[in-house]
Amino acid sequence: MEPQKSLVIATGNPGKAKEFAEMLGQQWQIRTLKDFPEISDVIEDGDSFETNACKKAREISEQVEGWVLADDSGLEVDYLDGAPGIYSARYAGPEKDDEANNQKLLKELDGVPDKQRGAQFHCVLAIAKSGEVLKTFSGIIRGKILTEYHGSNGFGYDPLFLPDGYRVTTAEMAPHEKHNISHRGLASKQASSFLKDACL
Ligand code: IMP
Repeated sequence: MEPQKSLVIATGNPGKAKEFAEMLGQQWQIRTLKDFPEISDVIEDGDSFETNACKKAREISEQVEGWVLADDSGLEVDYLDGAPGIYSARYAGPEKDDEANNQKLLKELDGVPDKQRGAQFHCVLAIAKSGEVLKTFSGIIRGKILTEYHGSNGFGYDPLFLPDGYRVTTAEMAPHEKHNISHRGLASKQASSFLKDACL
């Protein structure tokens, strides 16, 4: 077996780190911000997913050795002109409450017909080393927002998001099925092949 190379994922969220580890493959020894308690949170004050992902990757890579992967993602709803977008996690308030966010979304779209309920999940990944962003990748999955919850897998807006061409929401999919088609999965595939070429 090939020796593992080290990659720091710029998140303290173990669920997200596990998703990335599954998507990037076993050749990586993955560490997260939980392994670096001395590093303080990066403030995500950019005006786009890309700005936030780059800021996180750059600032963390100034403080750790080797490759750093950072992400920012969210839901963009056509009828709401792209909202909640970069505010997806705290759409209903600073508590970052998924249930409250979903309820707010249902309220904003109350009475909006099926055809106008188009939306997308969008993820941007940034790879950095020694304080320099080397590459960014973007993944998008299109779908629509349902009027009621279906499924309990995943997180966030998954129970309301029906991907185009599917009869089940992303909350009704097994994790590997969701990774295969998701915004994060699509961006991770590109990042994985970049990292392989660059350093394996
Ligand atoms: P972040 O990338 O952790 O900042 O995620 C921002 C927010 O976007 C999450 O808290 C969710 O509300 C939403 N989001 C991002 N990706 C997904 C997903 O795959 N499913 C459901 N919600 C998501």
